[in-house]
Amino acid sequence: MTSVPDLVTPTWEYAPAPESRAIATLRASYGLFIDGAFADPVDGGVRKTVNPATEEVLAEVADAGPKDVDRAVQAARRAFIEVWGPMPGRERAKYLYRVARLIQERAREFAVLETLDNGKPIRESRDVDVPLAAAHFFHHAGWADKLAHAGYGPDPRPLGVAAQVIPWNFPLLMAAWKLAPALATGNTVVLKPAETTPLSALLLAEVLQQAGLPPGVVNIVTGDGATGAALVAHPDVDKVAFTGSTEVGKAIQRQLAGTRTRLTLELGGKAANVVFDDAPLDQAVEGIVNGIFFNQGHVCCAGSRLLVQESLHDELLDRLKERLGTLRLGDPLDKNTDIGAINSAEQLQRITELAASGEAEGAQRWSPDCALPERGFWFAPTVFTGVAQSHRIAQEEIFGPVLSVLTFRTPQEAVEKANNTPYGLSAGVWTDKGSLILWMAQRLRAGVVWANTFNRFDPTSPFGGYKESGFGREGGRQGLGAYLDVEVDA
Ligand code: NDP
Repeated sequence: MTSVPDLVTPTWEYAPAPESRAIATLRASYGLFIDGAFADPVDGGVRKTVNPATEEVLAEVADAGPKDVDRAVQAARRAFIEVWGPMPGRERAKYLYRVARLIQERAREFAVLETLDNGKPIRESRDVDVPLAAAHFFHHAGWADKLAHAGYGPDPRPLGVAAQVIPWNFPLLMAAWKLAPALATGNTVVLKPAETTPLSALLLAEVLQQAGLPPGVVNIVTGDGATGAALVAHPDVDKVAFTGSTEVGKAIQRQLAGTRTRLTLELGGKAANVVFDDAPLDQAVEGIVNGIFFNQGHVCCAGSRLLVQESLHDELLDRLKERLGTLRLGDPLDKNTDIGAINSAEQLQRITELAASGEAEGAQRWSPDCALPERGFWFAPTVFTGVAQSHRIAQEEIFGPVLSVLTFRTPQEAVEKANNTPYGLSAGVWTDKGSLILWMAQRLRAGVVWANTFNRFDPTSPFGGYKESGFGREGGRQGLGAYLDVEVDA
């Protein structure tokens, strides 16, 4: 009898392909961007920002105190009254187009800086974060002179000064996502980037200067949660837009209850990625990998719960594990890298703790063979099978490269399990049947439902959540309403 040779997955050797970091000029220290110029803090301090892949200090960045926040809000108010509010939309559009083009021109610089400060692979900052940031400015530039046709009445008015607080997972993209609609609709802004990732927002401030944006239209106050709290509590702010944890979002909502300040919240998620047994398997595997391991799982809409039809479970898991064995973890500046560094020691600790709870509660843990670099913050891609709905890893947002796998038998059971979460930001459905996709989409309580794909973003498409994932929409025509003085559905 002749023996059948084992089918061996080919292994590929990759030569290092590092992007040069010389393209991004790092300054030793950065001030606050207030009234069109960089300035030292009046009553704040300084903090260091580090490269999470190496723990190397990249720069010192100012921490804004309450007086600095007040100066920024005053500058925004002046700019709103004197320049930006009265400016015709067609003139505002020119600035937004200029900013979009400058982001494109300086794309490599932005990508390298983002990767250094955040730890995400250069492939993602280069191919996702930066192009999408430019796309948000392009898209909203197009709206600036057409607001009368957006469905908000013949002459919709801006709200005034917007306070925007953003997280560390997509620092430049979140800044663009927040700034572009606010500016297009005639508002001025004070933006607070996350304390661990301030650098790309400060490079964006340089771009705003380069674009000749009038002073005070955008102000950037770096700092920690205290700076954010001072900003959202400022009495002269008309609108607060927050993206971050549900805990802080709830605190802000309590703080603003009873005030006239308008609020939109984009909070956490625990999305279900639902795979039926007639799904295109290869594509589904790629979609699962992209759903949870993109950006190290630091994604609010990450497909962190895989719901797989029971009959497909073993085959899908085999294929998924095989695919995960080919992912490359390491130097984020290397163009071959798939999985970069965890953004901070705190986040690494949170992921580690939640993953440990998965094992303690009885789920089976698996990771591919992958060596973790000695310095920096790293976590291997991890899959838990045998997960019960009551497990913490099925309920809580891990915000890391950790996938929890559950099974279902019928579409009804899939819907019930997918909706069994306090969150409602996104979901994915994988099946060959269009009718089943529509049936599922009507029943999933999620702001976005992807069909046979996952983690696709476009500025023309509104994004936002249900339940504890927040309220309000960003992007598309719907996102404009959050910055206009009109009644909008939450
Ligand atoms: P936070 O919600 O604390 O951070 C988001 C932003 O809010 C940051 O700029 C932060 O500043 C600022 N902030 C913190 N406290 C306040 C406050 N009281 N008032 C106003 N602004 C404030 O998230 P973390 O960075 O602490 O992450 C914790 C967890 O939250 C993660 O593990 C993840 O599960 C989830 N998360 C979800 C995100 C999402 O997009 N859905 C994004 C980020 C986190 P600072 O950077 O100084 O903390």
